[in-house]
Amino acid sequence: MAKTIEAIVAGVRSGEIDPVALVDQHLKLIEENEPSTNAFITVLADHARQKAGEIASRVAAGDPVGRLAGVPVAVKDNLCLRGAPTTCASRILEHWHPPYDATVLSRLLAEDAIIVGKTNMDEFAMGSSTEHSARGPTHNPRDMTRVPGGSSGGSAAAVAARFAQAALGSDTGGSIRQPAAFCGVVGLKPTYGLVSRYGLVAFASSLDQVGPLAGSVADAALLLEIIAGHDHMDSTSLDAPAPRLAGQAADSAEGLSIGIVRELSDGADPEVKRRLDEAAESLERAGARVESCSIPEVSYALPAYYLLAPAEASSNLARYDGVRYGLRVNAADTPTMNARTRSVGFGAEVKRRIMLGTYALRAGYYDAYYGQAQRVRTLLIRAFDAAYERYDALLSPTAPTTAFRLKERVEDPIAMYLSDVCTIPSNLAGHPAISVPFGTGEAGMPVGVQVMAPALAEAVMVRVATILEQAAP
Ligand code: GLN
Repeated sequence: MAKTIEAIVAGVRSGEIDPVALVDQHLKLIEENEPSTNAFITVLADHARQKAGEIASRVAAGDPVGRLAGVPVAVKDNLCLRGAPTTCASRILEHWHPPYDATVLSRLLAEDAIIVGKTNMDEFAMGSSTEHSARGPTHNPRDMTRVPGGSSGGSAAAVAARFAQAALGSDTGGSIRQPAAFCGVVGLKPTYGLVSRYGLVAFASSLDQVGPLAGSVADAALLLEIIAGHDHMDSTSLDAPAPRLAGQAADSAEGLSIGIVRELSDGADPEVKRRLDEAAESLERAGARVESCSIPEVSYALPAYYLLAPAEASSNLARYDGVRYGLRVNAADTPTMNARTRSVGFGAEVKRRIMLGTYALRAGYYDAYYGQAQRVRTLLIRAFDAAYERYDALLSPTAPTTAFRLKERVEDPIAMYLSDVCTIPSNLAGHPAISVPFGTGEAGMPVGVQVMAPALAEAVMVRVATILEQAAP
């Protein structure tokens, strides 16, 4: 069995584990397998070794070390880290070095985590397969002919390939949970506002959240505890204390009532559905009351998302003008320079989103598209509120299929978008959700089961997820 973060930190503190040797082990795996996996945009070998050396000397001197002492962590390349490039897998940010650290990264570093690298992703987090990356696709370590999911595919692959003990990703419509499911790891999207977005490059600001990917629910919960909590640098940050999640016992589901959302499971592959049924049975065996439920509004989440997210993206991405960040393609006058920079700098999917979003926000269309999508969002939130009067948590597949093959969907945006039908509703509602590996499906690829919970009910969600993890085939 792989070690948990808790075990690693205990080992580092007692002197049984040498953080330098541990980091070298991970860097060796990266050296051997990264060329074929392509999970990273930047590997921070020197930084990691130096940080490990510092921790080792502090332990030797008897000085205290943090709750992540010596733990190798990979972070998505849309999180700003001082001293390293942040590219968002886009040409437009080529050679851009942020002058500050994202709050989530300051918090990891303050607890003595070791950042081993910045991971590959779909450009600006737009995609579900990590194929929309200016740096080429990431391959799924479970089957190199398949995608790792996206957009945090590099983070999921890095955890699955043991390049890192855990990783951070971002989730706007499923980008932590879907790749976690495809690579057979745990992925957690927190309640909107629980984790600071300061230093996360914005895609759709009303939906974006940073969260952990890890080999176990306990590791994901511990990381969330560390990165969560109010930050005055993010005006949407909740004024709530970080939840206490680590070390919670979850031996029984007694007293819990759980709904399986029919609209999110009906369209899934038979093998995915079979695993969901087994997951439901295991919760019943643990004492929960489990039943099928209907939330028809979730069927409108995907179309609403593909108006709202591109609308916000078109506004957020206006800042890449060739003046302030990264790439510039020179021209005789400024508007031509702006246009050339943007047409060379952005990839096809990002351009599609900017055009969709700009169209949806045009005067005269605003109410018919953006306004209508906002109303759908409100209806969806009300429908979830009603469901959570009856249930403590909701269950669904994380994605309707297991990992598909590279190139299979890249020319078909609708097929690509459909891999997020199950994850998008929680983003629109601002609710937490987690994907837990639960056996395998087609061709032996991992299946993820999603547990959703109401806002700030991370503790219940983690309890249910832990029971599923223990029961997983
Ligand atoms: N796949 C979805 C999209 O392309 C979600 C992306 C995300 O969560 N960042 O928008």
